[in-house]
Order: sequence, then structure tokens, then C-alpha cells
Amino acid sequence: MTNRRRIARCVLACLMLAVAFPAASTQGAEMYLAASCTVGVSMALRCSTPHGKAAGYITATRQSSAPAQMSAQVNNLAKETPASPDEHAQQSQKRVTSYTLPHGTYAKARHLSRISFLLRVFLPFYQIALLALILRWGWSSKFRDWAEAASTRRIVQAAIYSSLFLLAFTLPQLPIAAWVHWLLRRYDLVIQGWASWFWDQIKTQFVITIIGTLVIAGLFRAIRRSPRRWWFYFWLGSIPVTLFFIFISPLVIDPLFNKFEPLQSHDPALVDSLERVVARAGLSIPPERMFWMNASAKVNFVNAYVTGIGASKRVVVWDTTIEKMTNPQILFVFGHEMGHYVLGHIPKGLGLLEALFFLLFYIGFRLSNRVLQKKSQAWQIRAPDDWASLPVYGGILLLLLFVATPLTNGMSRYFEHQADQYGLEVTHGITPDSGQVAAQSFQILGEIDMEDPAPNRLEIWWFWDHPWIGDRIKFALEYGPWSKGESPEFVK
Ligand SMILES: [Zn+2]
Repeated sequence: MTNRRRIARCVLACLMLAVAFPAASTQGAEMYLAASCTVGVSMALRCSTPHGKAAGYITATRQSSAPAQMSAQVNNLAKETPASPDEHAQQSQKRVTSYTLPHGTYAKARHLSRISFLLRVFLPFYQIALLALILRWGWSSKFRDWAEAASTRRIVQAAIYSSLFLLAFTLPQLPIAAWVHWLLRRYDLVIQGWASWFWDQIKTQFVITIIGTLVIAGLFRAIRRSPRRWWFYFWLGSIPVTLFFIFISPLVIDPLFNKFEPLQSHDPALVDSLERVVARAGLSIPPERMFWMNASAKVNFVNAYVTGIGASKRVVVWDTTIEKMTNPQILFVFGHEMGHYVLGHIPKGLGLLEALFFLLFYIGFRLSNRVLQKKSQAWQIRAPDDWASLPVYGGILLLLLFVATPLTNGMSRYFEHQADQYGLEVTHGITPDSGQVAAQSFQILGEIDMEDPAPNRLEIWWFWDHPWIGDRIKFALEYGPWSKGESPEFVK
């Protein structure tokens, strides 16, 4: 259900990876392009349901990115005690008519939202500035010299260069990530301890270095082979690579960060209910493909989603979800996720993203040629196929991605809305009063994630990958083709 969590991607890792990873999520739409991840920080825009905003930002299984101002406010706000499981159970059954937050949470949610906004604007430029400094100070050419001195083999050079470069790029972002972690802990959104958090950062760095090495090696190979059309060949190559990462992510990368067990052994009744929704959707997801994840070791958020592709496709439900939501509410959240699946959001999202990347890569190719012509001497870059030119490509791609954000987020919000509608349709008749149940699910998600109760519309348009939760509640309560004698759009 809610978003967040996800693998690594850190710029370089993102840049190039923006391609390699675009939409490994349930709803192809959520770009990974996290133009904002920090060190291993992973932001996770993986789908998930209901909500989406802070998530993009401030939450994440393994934390998200960063900060801005540390105000005294934070200290005061963070003192409230979170609701106990019993209180949660009672609250979760309350009739919902619109999105509201209790007073203490309201102020926190507004504060988080402001920080989140500042980060979304600030981080990409901070990252571009870091890349510029790595070039200006001659670090990039130094890393190249060391890589070339160490070996004549290209792949070894790529590994050495990318390890050093990624370290130089991610370390200055670590304090930001740490600040965000501190803040989320103060707000009780996250409970992960510092040692565990730090260990996650190291693992993430390790993962992005491996992926970065492969992507960088592929990129420069394309540049050497075809100086004029490398952008096209790199783009083409990114498609199977992306599919491959979507495939191995739940098998190899996710277990590095969280514990997964068969859902059947934790909540067999839930498995039965999920199977009914699956059957209603005309899909077949056997119980062996349903997993329980021990999220409560790190966070207080709730989440449930479909991930993987082909043989790795699976359903994941976080233990926090089982604890904080009733079964009908979980079913709605799950129905939303099924919607992404059934409505083909993964292939559609991937297709649209690849089309966008086609354009961005071409523009990036033209821009990078210009920049390299002007600056290569000052930055000691020998040619476009010199490892040292990598930060140029990275910086340009980050900038283009930032500009394209409203487009990708618009697509994502559209898919999310469709999935909401699908969730309402697929649970209709299975759970009584399914619209109200959906509204309750959103309310719970909003409260747990501290979603902004009064967001700025322009900010939503540019930065949010999910619609505002208040709008989603309104839609859930109003949607009802059945009572009007109409037939539902997706689930007949
Ligand atoms: Zn979703």
C-alpha cells in the first residue's frame, strides 16, 4: 500500500540508472529516477497504494533523502506518543467523510511537507553542484588516471572509476540522509536504529557500485563504438537491462534489506481473502507467491504491493499493515495494487518512460557535446569516451529529469487514480460498504505517513507521484456506478 522502499539508486546510479531502473515498481509509473536519492538513501517511490507523497520523500524503508532546516519546532512536535495497536484498531473503524488529522499530527504533517518540498527542489541542484565540483577540482580526471594506471582492462577501470566517483558523489549527501533519518525517528515514522541504518547505507553503496560499474561500462562502450549514435544504442540497451533489474530485484536486492517469509505462515486468513480478490480480478497468484515482510523492525509505515516480473512476480504485505489495518482495508489496498497489474501499468509506464528517455538521451547527447567542447580542457577530459567525462553526462541527465518531473509524475498520478478505481471495483461485493472501507484505508495511510492535510496544488502537479489523499478519499466515497445502474469500467 503505501509507497516507499526500494532499492538503491543514487544518481550516477540514477542517472544512468534512471534508465536501468525506471519503473520496477508495481506501477511502472513510479520512476525510480529518484533524482534525489542520496547515498544509499533510497527513496522509494515504489507504488504502493494509497498515498504517495511524503513517501516519495520522507519515508522509505531504508530511508529517504534529506533535509533542510532544523527548526526548534521539530523538537516540540516530536514528543507525542504514537497510538497503541488498540487505539489503531478503534480508529481504523471510524467513519470517514474527509481527510482530517488530529491537531498534533496536523502540525507535524505540515512541517514534513514543507521539508519534503524543499528537498525535492534542493536535492537535484545540490547533486548537480556536487558533480560540477568533482569536475572542477579535477577529481574526475584523477579517478580516471588511477583507474587507467591500475589496469588495462576496461571493466576493471570501470569498477575502479565508478567506486571512487560514487563515493565522492554520495558521501557529501550522507549528512542529509542522516538528518532525514533523525527527523523521521523524532516523528516516530521510523524506528530503525542508527547502526542498522548505517549498515543499510553501506549495503546500498555496494549495490549501486556494482550496478553503476556495469552501466558505466556499457555507456562508455557505446560511446567508443559509435561516437554519434551512442545515445541511441545506450537507450536500446537500457530496455533489457531494466527488465532484468525488475526481475532480480525481489530475489536479490530486496532481501538484502528486509526479511521475507511466506504470508501463509503469518496470516492464513488474509491469504484466503487475498485469493478471493485475485480470483475476482481473473488472475492467478498462488499463495506461495505471497510474502510477509518484517517492516516493523525499521518503520511504522504500512505497505502492500505486487513486485517482480515473470517468475519473480509476487505479492508482499508488510507486517505493519496486518497490525494496523483490518482485513477489508487490506483487501482494498491490495485491490489497488492488483489494479496496477491488471491495467498493465508496468508495461505502459515502462513504454512511456522509455519514450521519454529516448528524447532526454538525445537532448543530453547534444548538450553534453557542447559542454565537453567548451570545458574539456579545464576539466582535463580527453574526449567524450574518457571515463572522466561521466559527471558531465550525469549532471545533464539530472537536470533534464528534474525538468521532466511534472510529466512523469502526471503519468504516475493518472495510473494511481486508475488503480484506486480498480480497487473500489474489485472489492465491491466482497467487502460490505467498500467505498467507506477504501476511505478508511486512505485515512489510516494519511495519518501514519503524516500526509499534508492542505497541500499546494502546484506542488502536487510538479512533485507528487500520487494524488493527494484528500482527493482520493472524496473519490472513494463518491464513486458508485452500481447505484446509478451503470456498469463499472474495469471489473465487470
Ligand atoms: Zn499505486
